[in-house]
Amino acid sequence: MRAVPRRTKIVATLGPATESDTAIDSLIKAGVDVVRLNFSHGTAAEHKARAERVRRVGRENNRFLAILADLQGPKIRVEKFTDGAVELAVGDRFCLDTECADGAGDQQRVGVTYKKLPQDVKSGDVLVLDDGRIVLEVEEVDGPRINCSVQVGGVLSDNKGINLKGGGLTAEVLTEKDKADIKTAAMIDADYLAVSFPRNAADIVQARKLLEAEGSQAGLCAKIERAEALDNLREIIEASDAIMIARGDLGVEIGDAKLPSVQKEIIRQARDLNCVVITATQMMESMRDNPIPTRAEVFDVANAVLDGTDAVMLSAETATGAYPSATVRAMSEICHNAEQHARAIKSRHRIDDTFNRVDEAIAMAAMYTANHLKVRAIATLTESGSTSLWMSRISSGIPIYALSRHESTNRKVNLYRGVFPVYFPTIHTNHAEANMEAVELMKKAGTIADGDLVIITKGDLMGTGGGTNAMKIVEVGNMPDFIA
Ligand code: PGA
Ligand code: MN
Repeated sequence: MRAVPRRTKIVATLGPATESDTAIDSLIKAGVDVVRLNFSHGTAAEHKARAERVRRVGRENNRFLAILADLQGPKIRVEKFTDGAVELAVGDRFCLDTECADGAGDQQRVGVTYKKLPQDVKSGDVLVLDDGRIVLEVEEVDGPRINCSVQVGGVLSDNKGINLKGGGLTAEVLTEKDKADIKTAAMIDADYLAVSFPRNAADIVQARKLLEAEGSQAGLCAKIERAEALDNLREIIEASDAIMIARGDLGVEIGDAKLPSVQKEIIRQARDLNCVVITATQMMESMRDNPIPTRAEVFDVANAVLDGTDAVMLSAETATGAYPSATVRAMSEICHNAEQHARAIKSRHRIDDTFNRVDEAIAMAAMYTANHLKVRAIATLTESGSTSLWMSRISSGIPIYALSRHESTNRKVNLYRGVFPVYFPTIHTNHAEANMEAVELMKKAGTIADGDLVIITKGDLMGTGGGTNAMKIVEVGNMPDFIA
C-alpha cells in the first residue's frame, strides 16, 4: 500500500528562529504548508524579504506554500516602565493612566496604548494582562485614569497585552498601521490576509475593500478572538474565506475553560458554511524549549484534527523557539496518525441539502462516489480552487489533487484540508487529452499507479471559472483514446 499524504495543513509563523534559507528549507522538508507573517513584529522590508525567501525556497522544493499576512489590529497594551518591569502583589493598587508618558511607568501606574480605554470600562470590570498572568479589577474610573486593585499578581513588564474579560472594547478594528500593512500584504502578493479582533462581518468587508483597492485577490481570514465575534459568528464566517480560532486572546476574554467546546462549535459551523478553519495558539507551546511535545499537546493537536480543522498553527514555536523544524515534524506525525481514525474519514456533510450550483453538485457527487468506490485519488481541474474547497468540506481519506494553471490558486488551496496543488499549465479543448495529461502528471508524481481508479472533474470549457459540470472515473493505464 502506498502511503496516503497528510491532509491537515500546518501553518508556521516566521521570526528570528526561522530567518535563513536553511531554516526555511528545513521547515518545508518537515512539512510546512503555509507560513504566517506576523505584522505585530518587524518592518515591511523584513516581511517582504521573508516572503521572497519562502517563495524562492518553496520553488526549489517544488512546493506551493501559501503566505498568510496577519495584521496586528487594535491590540491594547501597557506602555513602558522606567525600569522595564514592576512586580505587583495581590491587593496592591495600580493605575492604568492614559496620561502617563510612555517609558514613565512605575510601581503605582503605567501608560496604555488605547487612550479611550477609560470610556470602555467601569467599576467592577476585570482586566486581564499578559495572557492571564496578571488580573486587575477596576475600582473606579477617574477621568483619564483607571484605578485598579490587583487580583492576581506577578511581574508586569513593558508592552504586555490587556484584554477586558467578557469583551466589549470599542476600538476600531483596522488601525492606521493595519491600513499601511494591508498595502504591504498586497505588495508581497500574500495569499491570505488575517484580520485581528473583528467584531462583525462589516469589519471583514472593510478589510477586503482596502485589499482589493490595492489589486490583491488574497483570501480574508477572520481571527475569532473577541467575545462579541462569537455572537456574530455566522455573518463573520459568511464574509470570510477562512477563520482562525485565535485561542490566545479568545481564551483570555471568555476564559480558557470555555475554549474546547467553542473550538468544536466554530469548526463545525465553518465547515458547514464552506469556510476554511485554522486552529491556533499554544498547540505545541512546550516545544519552544523542548525537543518533544507534552502528551497533552499531542492530544490537543489530534483532537483539533478530529474536530475537522483544516490547519493547525504554530506561533512562537517556529518564530522564536529552539526547535522549529522538529516541532513541525512532530505536529505532522500527530496529524497524520489522527487522520486514520474513522471519525476523520466518514462524513454526513450536507447529506440532506439541496445544491444551487452545478459545480457544487459535481463536487459533492465526486466525493460521495470516492467515499463509496475504491478510488485512489480525485483530480479536479480548477481555475479558482472553489471545486476543491467544496470537496474538502467532506471528510474523506482520499486525496484531492487541485490541478490549476494559476500559481495563486495552487498556493491558496494549499490551506484546504486534503487538497494538494498540482501545477497544470495547459488548457486543452480535447477532453481525452486533458484527462490523459492529468493522469500522467499524477503518475509521475508517484501519487497514482496503473490499475488505480481516479475521479476527474472539470468543465466543458476548460479555462473558465465556475464551469465544472462533469465527472469522469478512469482507470490509470487503461484509458481508451476516445474518452471525452
Ligand atoms: P496573535 O493571535 O498571536 O496575533 O495574538 C492569535 C491568538 O490570539 O490566539
Ligand atoms: Mn490574538
